[in-house]
Amino acid sequence: MSAQILDGKQTALAIRQEIAEEVTQFIADGGPSPCLVAVLVGEDPASQVYVRNKQRACEKAGIEGRLHRLPADTDQATLMQLVADLNADNSVHGILVQLPLPAGLDEREVLDAIDPAKDVDAFSPYNVGLLMQGRPRFLPCTPAGIVQLLHRYQIEVSGKHVVVVGRSDIVGKPMAMLLVAKDGPCGPATANATVTLAHSRTANLADVIRQADIVVAAVGRPEMIRGEMLKPGAVVIDVGINRVGDRLVGDVCFDEAMQVASAVTPVPGGVGPLTIAMLLGNTVKAAKEIASRE
Ligand code: NDP
Repeated sequence: MSAQILDGKQTALAIRQEIAEEVTQFIADGGPSPCLVAVLVGEDPASQVYVRNKQRACEKAGIEGRLHRLPADTDQATLMQLVADLNADNSVHGILVQLPLPAGLDEREVLDAIDPAKDVDAFSPYNVGLLMQGRPRFLPCTPAGIVQLLHRYQIEVSGKHVVVVGRSDIVGKPMAMLLVAKDGPCGPATANATVTLAHSRTANLADVIRQADIVVAAVGRPEMIRGEMLKPGAVVIDVGINRVGDRLVGDVCFDEAMQVASAVTPVPGGVGPLTIAMLLGNTVKAAKEIASRE
């Protein structure tokens, strides 16, 4: 048996095309050009690649992508002032502070300062609270991309047991929140799951994962989840991006999962491209909401 590959790259391309059409229509109707500002502090090579990819994706969708580059020794006050300026700038609709920030900067304080209306990463406490209450404004990009992927491959989630491995604020927790909700961005079929949220202290992790109809792996440990830990026919969503030598691998051993699962996301080309597509979608949503207030 060989599982179906869930092609995040193609799915993201289709979504980006839909967003580009939405942007064209919005501007034709008299709306402003949606504008996403990325703030990059320091020289972290992976962050530079992520920011460049996001900017390219913006351009292709007709979204203006601006970049503020600050040196690694930037102090907290300077960064906070930049966020305040961007909050006040009416031509800016989305603000993205690329994480991680260099040591010494208070990430939480910076994220908390972003205007919730421009918080396209959905990291601010206000937007997290709305998600928790089942009435999100912006959806966190990686979990939202996963929901889109499941929806577009017609993988029913309702009533299924989903095991999310990893409880970060960026991926694991909001993923669990979206899947357990009564309704979702793609309707109730991609919500209403029974969710187990596992982490490094979970006892008998392999046994827990083996109960899952759908596994979402967001751990950051190369190929930690092996084929023998999966229930035959499970759907495997691999969020992990780990560099091993000159290769990128996920948190799941892809070759083994392909022999046991019914569907698997590859790394790269799985969840990653969808994350960027969702960021663009959030920026357009922000632009529309901000424009409707003016
Ligand atoms: P974090 O490091 O913030 O969280 C990792 C989570 O995994 C923690 O909850 C941790 O548990 C748990 N964990 C660590 N080791 C184990 C273990 N041995 N068994 C069970 N659980 C474990 O990572 P992120 O959520 O930010 O990212 C996870 C992965 O996803 C990374 O590889 C990252 O690069 C990737 N990623 C990919 C994205 C994409 O677009 N494709 C977007 C964001 C992230 P505990 O809380 O107990 O420490």
